[in-house]
Amino acid sequence: MSFVLLMDGNKPRKYGYSIYFEVGENWGGVNFGGFFFVQKNASAHIKCHEYGHSFQNLILGIFMPLVVTIPSALRYHYRNYKRAQGHSLPPYDQFWCEGWATKLGNKYYKG
Ligand SMILES: [Zn+2]
Repeated sequence: MSFVLLMDGNKPRKYGYSIYFEVGENWGGVNFGGFFFVQKNASAHIKCHEYGHSFQNLILGIFMPLVVTIPSALRYHYRNYKRAQGHSLPPYDQFWCEGWATKLGNKYYKG
């Protein structure tokens, strides 16, 4: 994925020990271990949160997809669906692995 974005003229940026790319508009972010992807002009909160997922990846290893990535992705799409129907949603970080990612990002990112 990073390779495709590089070929497409996207600049890789550094965030702590991670490399990230900014791509697309208004969708949030996604983490793949040492790399993450966020929307263009992503807030400090989004970047810090995705950075936190990098540390979950280090801690959980091969269990990461099962424990965090897949549940988070399903929840992300479910929330978009509920929002489109006009439902109000609980805070994003209320889901355990999302709140944990934000905490880890805040703990380990030394701007
Ligand atoms: Zn997340």
